[in-house]
Amino acid sequence: GKGLAVFTSGGDSQGMNAAVRSVVRMGIYLGCKVYFIREGYQGMVDGGDNIEEANWSSVSSIIHKGGTIIGSARCMDFIQKEGRLKAACNLVTRGITNLVVIGGDGSLTGANLFRQEWSDLLDELLAHNRITKDQREKYKYLHIAGLVGSIDNDFCGTDMTIGTDSALHRIIEAIDAIVSTAYSHQRTFIMEVMGRHCGYLALVAALASEADQVFIPEDPVPHNWVEKLCKRLQQERKSGQRLNIIIVAEGAIDREGKPITAELVKKVVVDNLQQDTRITVLGHVQRGGSPSAFDRILGCRMGAEAVMALMEATPETEPCVVSLDGNQAVRLPLMECVRRTKAVAQAMTDKNWELAVQLRGRS
Ligand code: ADP
Repeated sequence: GKGLAVFTSGGDSQGMNAAVRSVVRMGIYLGCKVYFIREGYQGMVDGGDNIEEANWSSVSSIIHKGGTIIGSARCMDFIQKEGRLKAACNLVTRGITNLVVIGGDGSLTGANLFRQEWSDLLDELLAHNRITKDQREKYKYLHIAGLVGSIDNDFCGTDMTIGTDSALHRIIEAIDAIVSTAYSHQRTFIMEVMGRHCGYLALVAALASEADQVFIPEDPVPHNWVEKLCKRLQQERKSGQRLNIIIVAEGAIDREGKPITAELVKKVVVDNLQQDTRITVLGHVQRGGSPSAFDRILGCRMGAEAVMALMEATPETEPCVVSLDGNQAVRLPLMECVRRTKAVAQAMTDKNWELAVQLRGRS
């Protein structure tokens, strides 16, 4: 059978295990020899026990677990050519020519580069007798399918990334818990959520929790935001509301590009309205806990589609990323999506928020 390996790379997210499980089982079902690569690219470079053959039962009882059981890492070695040579050698000697990479845009960029260089890497390995002529010929094509795991929903081309829905659940649970105590004490509370370049989590959490105000990077507030905020909070209290909820994405800014932090918002509320105000920074809680049903199913669907894409690939097939488009799993050109995602980040850096939102499209 064909050699196929799956690994998780970059930041972890809930639902990655469901994707790993699905890749392993679909691969075995279609007759592949399936491998785990532990610790992302580092395991690929180091080889040894990091690359281990998987069987049907090695992915039992993982679908409900958060994070990734095969480990994830950032890897400096893979950025260097020598690291990628080692990685290629480790794959070829095991007969692996199909890779499913689960990660963010950095991990997908690395995979694309690897594929572009594959032929040169094998030539160099052959020249140094690290692989045989037979191996050079037999494993001359590398196929790549990517899945996006990220809690931020910051990748262009997919409606949802694996992990976003679970992170939202964590945020909403936390807000609901805080609301009951804030209600008792007539407090205003400010919650900082993740999303450096992408306000999706903050925006959707604000809708789902009836927040009074949300600050996101894509919609920088005008200079009179303080008056507007205070007026709104006051009105809400006057009309009988016992608490106020304000959600701040960690990358929120004003129109001059100055950060709007939870601390700043608190100072504004306390100085102007003398309201009892508390801050909660959720941090890594958002990545934690068990994946939601949605993320488990998303991981399963995307993993299966990735394996099918690899099995159908011809030597000319470009690397793809499996995306969700209108609730359909589709295959999109990997590098086009990565380029768009990077263009959004650049537009945000350039303070061109309209372009950012336009480039991001539906997701
Ligand atoms: P994410 O995948 O979540 O965006 P990173 O950007 O940290 O996370 O990328 C994860 C890993 O992918 C890096 O540690 C590195 O090993 C690899 N990688 C990222 N960009 C490149 C690149 N341009 N060339 C080679 N490898 C890369």
